[in-house]
Amino acid sequence: MRAVVTGGAGFIGSHLCERLIHENHDVVCVDNFVTSDPGNVEHLTDDPHFQLMHRDITRGLDVPGPVDALFHLASPASPADYLRLPLATLRVGSAGTWHALDLAAAKGARFLLTSTSESYGDPLVHPQPESYWGNVNPVGPRSVYDEAKRFGEALTMAYRRCRGVDAKVVRIFNTFGPRMRADDGRAIPTFISQALRRVPITVTGDGSQTRSLCYVDDVVDGLLRMLASDHGGPVNLGNPHEVSMLELAQWIGKLARTTSEIALIPRPQDDPERRRPDITKARELLDWEPTTPVEQGLCDTITYFRRQLVSGDFAEGWDRPLSSSPIPQARS
Ligand code: NAD
Repeated sequence: MRAVVTGGAGFIGSHLCERLIHENHDVVCVDNFVTSDPGNVEHLTDDPHFQLMHRDITRGLDVPGPVDALFHLASPASPADYLRLPLATLRVGSAGTWHALDLAAAKGARFLLTSTSESYGDPLVHPQPESYWGNVNPVGPRSVYDEAKRFGEALTMAYRRCRGVDAKVVRIFNTFGPRMRADDGRAIPTFISQALRRVPITVTGDGSQTRSLCYVDDVVDGLLRMLASDHGGPVNLGNPHEVSMLELAQWIGKLARTTSEIALIPRPQDDPERRRPDITKARELLDWEPTTPVEQGLCDTITYFRRQLVSGDFAEGWDRPLSSSPIPQARS
């Protein structure tokens, strides 16, 4: 198979490229590095089956030669990133998705959109099945991401219905693992980097809000299974293991053997209260469920961040405390 991965240099994309290369496929990784670093795929660049294209897909997407599969991951994904890049997020979710679907249509390629649990907004149904239509504030600050993804889902389904593209949608719930950026604002890299720096671990609100955390290898496995299936989705991919943010901060503190205390800071606007995927569909249609215990995933991620710290590769300002400013930091 020759696969195009948009956003392939990002956190999940780089693991997907690695897995595809490992399974002897040819990979074209397309990225503009707006929220990532080419270093994430540096170890693949000498492989003759791997090609890296530096492109902004909102300007068009042309890949010479045959394409069998297109994994569309390009989009800022962490709240800190999409709140910093609201228009770029809307553009890549709309025009970028359009270009990616046009390429899939022109090449007769299978297409997979990585949508998000944020399509459910601040959900009023718990856990969230795919049949739930969501509770999104269409004009709030987070809408630039949520609505861009919902538009991408609608576009993908329209191409499936009207243009005969074998196009599919998965909704990914919070995913974590090595190669997340220490400064991307998501809870796990924030808590780990604070724990390793021995500065206060900042939990928003009273920490009772929950998330369900899935290790990246499991999500990549789900993406490959979805691509190979005949189903259009949407299908939830996530780990039903639900944990409160306060519990998560305490858990990471313990695993990182830190002396950091936990500090409560104000909660950002429209932050979802609870989130847990109903993965009945993924189990039945894809024979998929997460297999990596969350604690093992957290230990691997802490080890990754510790190595970055030792090698000096960590985000700039590693030696300075993370902001303890009263401005609420958006978390995913
Ligand atoms: P990431 O920010 O690490 O990766 C996204 C990649 O897309 C980056 O490499 C970025 O440079 C690239 N990109 C953005 N705009 C682009 C453009 N216009 N042209 C080319 N490349 C562009 O994020 P991630 O966590 O790896 O997320 C990957 C995908 O999975 C995203 O679509 C995201 O919405 C989705 N997702 C992720 C999670 C999660 O928990 N990580 C949850 C739900 C959905």
